[in-house]
Amino acid sequence: MATGRTSVAVKVAFGSLAVGLLVLALKAFAAWATGSIALYSDALESVVNVVTAAVALAAVRLSARPADASLPYGYHKAEYFSAVIIGIFIAVAAIVIFREAYSGFVAPRGFRLDPTGVAVSIVASALNAVWAYWLIRLGRQEKSPALSADGRHLMTDVVSTLGVLLGVVLAATTGWTQLDAILAALVGVTILWSGWQLIRHSVIGLMDVAVEPRTLTLIREIISANAEGAIEAHDIRTRQAGKMMFIEFHLVVHGAMSVETAHGICDRIEAKLREAVDSAQITIHVEPESKAKHSGIVVL
Ligand code: ZN
Ligand code: ZN
Repeated sequence: MATGRTSVAVKVAFGSLAVGLLVLALKAFAAWATGSIALYSDALESVVNVVTAAVALAAVRLSARPADASLPYGYHKAEYFSAVIIGIFIAVAAIVIFREAYSGFVAPRGFRLDPTGVAVSIVASALNAVWAYWLIRLGRQEKSPALSADGRHLMTDVVSTLGVLLGVVLAATTGWTQLDAILAALVGVTILWSGWQLIRHSVIGLMDVAVEPRTLTLIREIISANAEGAIEAHDIRTRQAGKMMFIEFHLVVHGAMSVETAHGICDRIEAKLREAVDSAQITIHVEPESKAKHSGIVVL
């Protein structure tokens, strides 16, 4: 199952890379044909998408590696490091865009409303829209929030490109050429925003933040419903490392219970938890009733 998921992720990353390269080529042509700074910024946003897809491809392969003696918890966090690399690229792209926008604002340059350039840019956006729609649908099908997030990010690119095109047409028809530079700066701001989201997500992963409250509630319910024979469960701790979820807790049983029976309860809870959340690593610490805290999860 894990390998099936990985191969889907690898195929998607390859697809995103191919679409990204094609869109980049089209957008670069549109920027060159019109001489517009806003369309140039839009093309730079595509460079970020290509880098993202390439780094994601490497990260997906690395995170799929099985745990070994030197990395006993596995390679799942590799994807957070890839996000840091992408974050740096985004910062560089934003700096280049802001510099161009500034120089274009103080000394407006003329640009041509080249019909071929505009048409090519529309084609590039259509391609992005189709791929984004497909990613969102696949994300829903595969229950992968990461895929859906990629799709939604690409959809915002489509919207920003359409906005840029509208502005470029407006700038050309009204003769207010500074609008081109203002639009470029706006593209820079949206790129920075997506970079911030990416870095925030990685920091959450690297800092071992607990799983979402909704998931935690589900985990507690499963433990409570399947710990028959035990007294209580407490000190539950969760964290997410890429696709892998780590769950730990203490399970209080009667001190006289045999190791065999206590282990049986643990195995039953583990099996039910694995059914609910895929890719879970569960550690249960068994304790006698003198260690009960009379809090946490009371067994039904
Ligand atoms: Zn305890
Ligand atoms: Zn065991």
